[in-house]
Parts: sequence; structure tokens; C-alpha cells
Amino acid sequence: MSEFFSSRLSSLTPYTPGEQPRGRKYIKLNTNESPFPPSEAVIEAIADEAKSLNLYSDPSLTELRAALAATYGVAPENVIASNGSDEALNFITMAYADKGFAFPDITYGFYPVFCTLNRVNYREIPLKDDFSVDVEAFMSAPENVMIANPNAPTGIALPLSDVERIVSADPGRIVVIDEAYVDFGGESAVKLIGKYRNLIVVGTFSKSRSLAGGRLGFALAAPELIADLDAIRFSTNPYNVNRLTLRAGAAALKDAEYYKNNALTIIANREYTAERLREMGFEALPSKANFLFIRSDKIEGAELYARLRDRGVLVRHFTKPRISYYNRVTIGSRAEMDAFLSETEEILNEIR
Ligand code: PMP
Repeated sequence: MSEFFSSRLSSLTPYTPGEQPRGRKYIKLNTNESPFPPSEAVIEAIADEAKSLNLYSDPSLTELRAALAATYGVAPENVIASNGSDEALNFITMAYADKGFAFPDITYGFYPVFCTLNRVNYREIPLKDDFSVDVEAFMSAPENVMIANPNAPTGIALPLSDVERIVSADPGRIVVIDEAYVDFGGESAVKLIGKYRNLIVVGTFSKSRSLAGGRLGFALAAPELIADLDAIRFSTNPYNVNRLTLRAGAAALKDAEYYKNNALTIIANREYTAERLREMGFEALPSKANFLFIRSDKIEGAELYARLRDRGVLVRHFTKPRISYYNRVTIGSRAEMDAFLSETEEILNEIR
């Protein structure tokens, strides 16, 4: 950092995104993207909208809000859209700073970064030994709560009944449920939005809707909370979602069948991969997401990561002590998973 950098940000450790390699062609199983392209209708909508890029995007997000509301069975006043769900999460930490936030010790690495950036206190509540969320501890936490469900990088999902216990335990604090991976087998909390005015459900188009590069996320909540987040949005960037992405998002929602089938394929590939890995002696946590969190007594996480990388397969390794033995493997096409499995098998044979 230069000597000009704000001293109030001296403790900021920026989020480290997964590698986006250039040059060498890798089998890319490291950032939980979809292996499937956007639907034809999405590509056509983007091409059509490109003609209007001389104009700013709609700051009210009207068309996309209406489409999201119809998809999720809520009103447009319950919806805000964002530049990736990361932006919605950032807005949320800005908007609800007073009580601070509690989140699991093992979860999405951006939560503590947003808190530090916005100078919001946070507390990490350890996952239980089996990596499940400690529901009682969150029920009694005085802070606002942020939980990824299914959680990342574990893939473990919390039943909706447990989510409801946490939300209803204290109506005086905000509970954020980050449902980035819900379309791969989790239970959505969207149906609770009409019932609890302290609940915010965050979603993304980056995973099951094949739009990671388009950067589109959203949050669903009671109208007063959406108004809070809109106040932050209009104070940050009223044109936060660009024209191409607004059109792409609305078109993707119309192609629900295509994306639903892709999610089913990913689920089938996940179960296939987990089974094959278990046969090789790996432990795979029970995942409801588009990735598996795996470990083997035969090889440490960092070493498996490095050896796979040498062989052209990228997975994600985290250095946090509690999970350093693990790797997170995104579920891709069947051909990609077969390549990953055979390279892994060869590595195990090599070190034997
Ligand atoms: N939440 C979780 C749990 C994630 O893993 C991710 C993806 N890195 C995000 C939110 C953010 O995704 P995006 O900004 O692409 O919507």
C-alpha cells in the first residue's frame, strides 16, 4: 500500500478470487461456474441490447425486478438487483452495521472482507465438528446473522426448519440467507419472506443460470429492507446493473426449463463424482451445491491441488487450518469430471 492509503483500512485483507488462468488451457473446477453456456435466448437478448449501449441502464431495474418477482412469487417491492450477489452482500453490511454480523468460521471468505471494508464488527461462530451450522449458537447471537445455505466451501445445507428457528429467534436483528447454491438441492427460504420482516434472501445468476461473467445478483426481503438497500445502491451506483446484464437476466428467467435441466445434470454428475471419490478412499462431505469438499488421508489438500494443477486441472484449496486438508472441486460436465477423476487416481498411484 502507498503512504496515501486510508489508515482506517490498514487491517483490510482483500478477498482472493479463484484463479482465472490465461494461456494454458485448464479443466477449470475452481470457481463454481457452470460448464454450460447461457441459453440461446440470453445470447440473443444481449446482442439486441448492445444497440442501446449509448444509453444508461434503467436505475429502477423495473423489468428485471418484475421478472424476479414473478419467478419467486413475491412483489417487485420485495426485490433488488445487484452487480453480482457480492454487491448485494456489500450493501447489506453497509446498511445494517450497528449490531455487527455473526457468521460461521468456515464460510464464504467475502463476509469478513465486506465487514472490514465497511468497518462493521463481526464474530465467527465455529461450525460443529461435522461442519454443520451450530443452529442454537446463531439463535442466541445478538448480532445480525449471515449464513450461506448451502454453505460454501462445505456444500452442506441447513434444513428450512432450522433457518426459520434462527430467523424467528430474534425479530430485532437481520438474518441474511445467501442462497448462491440453492438450485442444486437446497431448500429456499424465499417462502418465509412474507412472514418475517427481518429476513433477507440473497441469490445469484452466477451458478445455476450460467451468468458468472454477466455479474448479476439479487436480494429478496420486506419492502422496508429493500428500500434501505436501494438507498445504499443509489448512493453508490444507481446504474449498478448494466443494460446487457439486465436483459440477459430477464431472458434467463424465461428459460427456466433449460437451467433446471442443467442443474439436474450437475446434481447427477456430483453424485457420480462423490461415489467414485469414495471408492478411491476420499471423504466427500454431503453436498447440496455444485461442488464437493473432499479430503483423503493419503494426500494433503495443498499437494493434491498442486499436482492436479501440474496436470491441467484446477481445483480450489484453502489454507485456513481447519480445512487445509480439503479441496473444493466444482462439478463440471461428465467429461471434465472423468478427467479430474482419472488424474486424481494417477496421482494417488504415483505417491503410493
Ligand atoms: N455467495 C457465495 C456463498 C458464493 O460462493 C459466491 C461466489 N463466489 C457469491 C456469494 C458471490 O457470487 P456472485 O457475486 O458471482 O453472485
